[in-house]
Amino acid sequence: MASSKFIFVTGGVTSSLGKGIIAASLGKLLHARGFTVAIQKFDPYINIDPGTLNPYEHGECYVTDDGAETDLDLGHYERFLNTPTSQANNVTTGRIYYNVITKERKGEYLGKTVQVIPHITDEIKKSMLLLGESGKNDFVITEIGGCVGDIESLPFIEAVRQLKYDLGPNNSMVIHLTLLPYLAAAKEIKTKPTQHSVKQLLEAGIQPDILACRSEKHLPMEIRKKLALFCNVQLNSVIEAIDAETIYDVPLLMRKEKLDERVLTKLKVPHKQEPTLDLWKKFLGKLKNPTKEITIGLVGKYVELPDAYKSIVESFIHAGAENECKVNIKWISSEDITAGNIKLKLSDLDGVLVAPGFGERGIEGKIEAVRHVRENKIPFFGICLGMQCAVVEFARNVLHLKDAASTEMNPDTKHPIIDLMEDQKKITDKGGTMRLGAYTCKISKGTKAFQVYGKQQIEERHRHRYEFNNNYLERIEKAGMIASGVNPTSNLVEIIEIKDHPWFVATQYHPELKSTVINPHPLFVKFVKAALENKK
Ligand code: GLN
Repeated sequence: MASSKFIFVTGGVTSSLGKGIIAASLGKLLHARGFTVAIQKFDPYINIDPGTLNPYEHGECYVTDDGAETDLDLGHYERFLNTPTSQANNVTTGRIYYNVITKERKGEYLGKTVQVIPHITDEIKKSMLLLGESGKNDFVITEIGGCVGDIESLPFIEAVRQLKYDLGPNNSMVIHLTLLPYLAAAKEIKTKPTQHSVKQLLEAGIQPDILACRSEKHLPMEIRKKLALFCNVQLNSVIEAIDAETIYDVPLLMRKEKLDERVLTKLKVPHKQEPTLDLWKKFLGKLKNPTKEITIGLVGKYVELPDAYKSIVESFIHAGAENECKVNIKWISSEDITAGNIKLKLSDLDGVLVAPGFGERGIEGKIEAVRHVRENKIPFFGICLGMQCAVVEFARNVLHLKDAASTEMNPDTKHPIIDLMEDQKKITDKGGTMRLGAYTCKISKGTKAFQVYGKQQIEERHRHRYEFNNNYLERIEKAGMIASGVNPTSNLVEIIEIKDHPWFVATQYHPELKSTVINPHPLFVKFVKAALENKK
């Protein structure tokens, strides 16, 4: 294909309808037909990126190889397509304004009044087209965050309107994801909210090409006809998006509704081949027919909102399927854990994961959880703050450095076993200043980590400020906790493990960010195996 085709996905009626999953599923289907696809998300909030947002506000902050802190939908894009994303795949209103204001200060608009139209919309359009520029992507799918009609998403919608014109016929299209509520009392699926949200799009100058209709019931023909009639879409472009048992069913459900065919026809692209979805179906087969079951305790402080740990949950789904094992997650709030109730809190678990996190709240509960699983030889997996807790626990209870702590929690500790590196100490800004993105790690042979990866050099993604303090390394290793992976240039410790324990492995990096359906992360796969063995 000569140049990229652009597909925009907007949302109506409510948020949380799963635009990200629809975008990722369409991407998957096109990819499975042999096309190259990029998916990007435009978020209407003013933060430059979600890095400074509380997980309760926005769920997990997903990190890409190039160190961008991004929306969690990028995680879905990577997990579905098995291709990495980057900073270019997630743009916020904040970043757009920042770019425009920076240009204004440099005098790039000298003499002009800088305005939403054309300056902000031009900047949005430039960003929207970016992933099409290399000529590498046959399709660029753009998800617009929020709902049509929101004041804050207006400039994005306006940019889409302009782009539809700029790009010319058959080069772009709009898929509108909307909700069809079912009224149990009337036993009816209602179309009015969708009619209204399409009207709102029309007011903004956009006629959607396809309606994806989220519904808890199948769409009867008369409802499809009504929507087609009132919303000016072809009957076969009213696509049912029924509630799914798992998000991984959605590509197949979309295939059944012929979403990919509709897109190709509308954009006048030859259909190439039928989608090859064998591996995907094999994964689904294993996911839905587990032969075993385990329960993992996830100890964290944002457990009321599972989206805060999205990638971890998905990694367990991938690793579970790989092991043909159903992985139940028991959410355990670290704030509720005490030395007195730990046994009860962690009873009946086959393994425990201590989650990433920031700040002091709940930290002692996490450390107590590590002590329990270390002493009772329960399989343990620590991620980022989870690794830091494992090191602090070991220092306190095995090295008997009672005061040992991370300086994030106790800046005055006598034993700063987790500490800021010199270059971090000078930094005062909070946005985009952590150790972010992919770094190389060298793994020692003969370790559990080597057993997991089967190679010595790996790359994993980071998002943290504090590090293992190498002044304590010798003492720690002598006592039985080893650094099995280190950064070859900075010597920073990336993986720790305890030899004399069935499975006690923790990483400073975030393996969950690289697990995909086709490539489940080996650390999760092995941890599930270890938990299965423990269960026996
Ligand atoms: N708060 C810790 C740090 O900044 C850990 C971060 C995390 O778990 N992502 O180093």
